[in-house]
Amino acid sequence: MSVERTLAIIKPDAIAKGVAGQIVTRIENAGFKILAAKLIRMSHEDAAGFYVVHKARPFYRSLCTFMTQGPCLPMVLEGDNVIQRWRELMGATDPAKAAPGTIRRDFAASIEANAVHGSDSLESAAFEIPYFFASLELCPR
Ligand code: GDP
Repeated sequence: MSVERTLAIIKPDAIAKGVAGQIVTRIENAGFKILAAKLIRMSHEDAAGFYVVHKARPFYRSLCTFMTQGPCLPMVLEGDNVIQRWRELMGATDPAKAAPGTIRRDFAASIEANAVHGSDSLESAAFEIPYFFASLELCPR
């Protein structure tokens, strides 16, 4: 076990549905510390830069449009093994394949509008956290 940080996002579909509070409760119940959070509306350029790793995928443009359709809530989470544990709490990318009790199973509408994001590795967390937050915005405790 090692203490890690990950970038989580409550995506625009979940904000629009009014389930952000329920998702934050799951984060708190899991024992993760929220070091930073802010409600933002991404521009197309913001989303394109964040998802640049998916640039060659057929859904890239659609994904970027979806992420700009309304506000989203990026957060920095900290905890033991938090990268993998947050992804387990999120569930599979496709909500139809997500395990019962996971956030995507309970709140996501489609493989694209799937409620939440989580970094998939230490390397992606190292890119994604500073994409949204300056180090002065993180509140360790
Ligand atoms: P994640 O790590 O589970 O979020 O999944 P990926 O890194 O593979 O994909 C990033 C995001 O792209 C997903 O969370 C979805 O919002 C979207 N996405 C993934 N696969 C598809 C797909 O087949 N079609 C569409 N339209 N969007 C997808």
